[in-house]
Amino acid sequence: MLKPNTNYASLKDSYLFYNISQKINSHLEKNPNAHLLRLGIGDVSMPLPAAVIKALHQAVDDQAAKQTFHGYMHECGAPFLRDIIAAHYQKRGVDINADEVFVSSGASDELGDILDLFDKSDTALIMEPAYPAYVDANIMAGRKIIHLPAGKENGFLPSPAKEAKADIIYICSPGNPTGAVFTRKQLKQWVDFANENGSVILFDAAYEAFIEEKELPRSIFEIEGAKTCAIEICSLSKTAGFTGTRLGYTVIPKELSCSGMNFNRMWVRNRTTKTNGVSYIIQKGAAAVFTDEGQAQIKENINVYKQNAKVLMQALDKLGIWYCGGKNAPYVWMKVPDYFDSWSFFDYLLNEAGIVGTPGAGFGNCGEGYFRLSSFGSTEDTKTAAVQMVRLLKQS
Ligand code: PLP
Repeated sequence: MLKPNTNYASLKDSYLFYNISQKINSHLEKNPNAHLLRLGIGDVSMPLPAAVIKALHQAVDDQAAKQTFHGYMHECGAPFLRDIIAAHYQKRGVDINADEVFVSSGASDELGDILDLFDKSDTALIMEPAYPAYVDANIMAGRKIIHLPAGKENGFLPSPAKEAKADIIYICSPGNPTGAVFTRKQLKQWVDFANENGSVILFDAAYEAFIEEKELPRSIFEIEGAKTCAIEICSLSKTAGFTGTRLGYTVIPKELSCSGMNFNRMWVRNRTTKTNGVSYIIQKGAAAVFTDEGQAQIKENINVYKQNAKVLMQALDKLGIWYCGGKNAPYVWMKVPDYFDSWSFFDYLLNEAGIVGTPGAGFGNCGEGYFRLSSFGSTEDTKTAAVQMVRLLKQS
């Protein structure tokens, strides 16, 4: 008899964004003319950079002529893109070769697919509050999850400890939802811990482009010893506005092996079986991101979000409210005033000022009492929201 994957029955319904949209709909029904100030979104609002658009157009034209047409692409990524990404790492002093770079359709796809490399009996460590997909992907695979709570006392950057021993270790830096960034020293502790225990770190670098402080690591491979214990998953979604265009890349060093199995070779085998590669057109657009022109243009867009984050941080500073993130990340993670929990704070901001944020409780139990503000919204709305928040919270 057919047996479905019953692990799906263990998944909790994600009420977070459903609840948020229900509350917004009911608010708009009562206030049909209300203009909402959306600081809840994790999606970008700036269009693709001009260099990318030009490359996309050119690639479409390539597909129109016999001499330049491309059919199936290499499953692991087009050599031109793998080369340019490896060179991008090399320029930053990180020694990565093109055959250690795998092009993907985005970090979400890859975060799910990469679990194919591990046995079902492997345990997964998830630092919470966390990006919800880490938990759900492991529940679907029937894997045991070890939850490592983080909090204000460690700046939402927990250190390795006996109870954090696991086979797979998720690290997201800069973090979603907290915006907190691990220092070099903190990451080195995790790398040493993983090497000592034979664990693999899945390093989610989806927000690395927001790091502005030079001494903070943007790649786990800036840390000595990482090549024998880490896989890095990157995305152009937030770096270059590719949320709807879709492209990511994953770095699996050749040194990463376990029980005689080499993870880089395993991933080549996986990709050549399970995908026929990413579209030529999109890979051409992605290559433009790594040119000097592309890099200058993405920086301009990121600066718009950074300016928004600054406006939010200034408002919280004025109010004397604790927060982390914002400086090297697109998210500001704030403590809600004592007399609220994260959902009642959501209601208060929505009803009193039309501000939409994200309640921290939606990212795991230790997110309760906190609230995520995103800098991906429009500059005008962010400024208005900041003024409104100061007005509201000063008087309450
Ligand atoms: N990882 C983190 C931490 C994210 O916040 C997101 C998206 O919001 C992703 C991965 C997924 O990115 P992509 O658009 O490349 O699938």
